[in-house]
Amino acid sequence: MVKELALSTKLVYQPNDDIYNASVAPLYQTTTFKQKSVSDLGQYDYTRSGNPTRTQLESQLASLMKADHAYAVNSGMSCLDVISRLIKQGDEVIAGDDLYGGTHRLLTFLHKNGSIKLKHIDTTNTELVLKSVTASTKFIFLESPTNPLIKVVDLPAISKYIRKNYPDCIIVFDNTMMTPLLLSPLDYADIQYESATKYLNGHHDIMAGVIATRSKKLADDLFFVINATGCGLAPFDSWLLLRGLKTLSIRFERQQANTVKIANWLESIGLTVRYPGLKSHPQYELHKSFNKGFGAVLSFETGSIKKSEIITEGTKIFGVTVSFGCVNSLISMPCRMSHASIDEKTRKERNLPEDLIRLCIGIEDADDLIDDLKTALLKSGLVSESSTGKIFVNSVSKL
Ligand SMILES: *Cc1c(COP(=O)(O)O)cnc(C)c1O
Repeated sequence: MVKELALSTKLVYQPNDDIYNASVAPLYQTTTFKQKSVSDLGQYDYTRSGNPTRTQLESQLASLMKADHAYAVNSGMSCLDVISRLIKQGDEVIAGDDLYGGTHRLLTFLHKNGSIKLKHIDTTNTELVLKSVTASTKFIFLESPTNPLIKVVDLPAISKYIRKNYPDCIIVFDNTMMTPLLLSPLDYADIQYESATKYLNGHHDIMAGVIATRSKKLADDLFFVINATGCGLAPFDSWLLLRGLKTLSIRFERQQANTVKIANWLESIGLTVRYPGLKSHPQYELHKSFNKGFGAVLSFETGSIKKSEIITEGTKIFGVTVSFGCVNSLISMPCRMSHASIDEKTRKERNLPEDLIRLCIGIEDADDLIDDLKTALLKSGLVSESSTGKIFVNSVSKL
């Protein structure tokens, strides 16, 4: 048997069958392809239906995601839009209650329209999930670790239960936070999708999404929607994503190493940090049991919205932006930014702290990042510096 290549190799080893042997797969920046004859359409005819640059990307993604079929579309939310069109009128759908803000927004919209019957539950509570899934549940949408609360969903246990008892229920998993490097969701789920805007591309210069499956039937249905709606990823963006992918493993390794350092530092000065790579995380063991790493997103509370604002705005190297996965480090207050589309009442119900700060760590020097945070934390008054240079938290009140 031929040994399978490691993902880090597959990321840079991108064979293509260009007629000139171009080292980099060529960009087919064209919408149409001429036909040999009126009846002979050839492999490609119109870029909405297919384009060689997108095919190149999709075959690489399928291999990375251990999928039989992968599709590149024009954003992470497009993935969800495509998948949600497979839901039939009135189908019951279960979704996590700490999902990405945009996911929550689209699913809630479909629910209010009467297209789906949505039940939001805490999917990190495995017992509750097992109790909630019934024969009428047609889809379940999961994400782990959740963002920004960094809660871990027991994907293997939920999958095992559903596959045994309700094999027709389609398990959909959003793997944006872990990437194919750390988790192969298709071992547990029927459909995997990721916002490639984040780590897969890594440079915050394109929007893209990827959907993958091992089922021919699901693949055909997904492709039908992609072709019918025209959300396939544009050739140039496909080409850029192919380029971004090459450095995924080295970027993400560095980002994770930096995050571990920063998480430990924040914890050492007395803050409560949410990061699955910390032994203090209540689901540290669970996370480790099915993921190959801890990712590069963490969050912490300050006890004061004002202080959180000063810290967020007081950093220099960290960009104040929504999103994550970029080579640059980012800082945000999710309730004011990425999760503002969830209304305040719902945020409260889900224990989403208004003062929460989220850090998405990039590839800069970790000590520079820590110094930057130190300056901002001191400025906010949340921490003080002793005469020996030791940083310590003054006090954190629970909001
Ligand atoms: C960003 C994100 C999305 C949406 O992706 P876009 O590319 O921004 O449309 C979906 N899920 C998660 C977990 C995300 O972080």
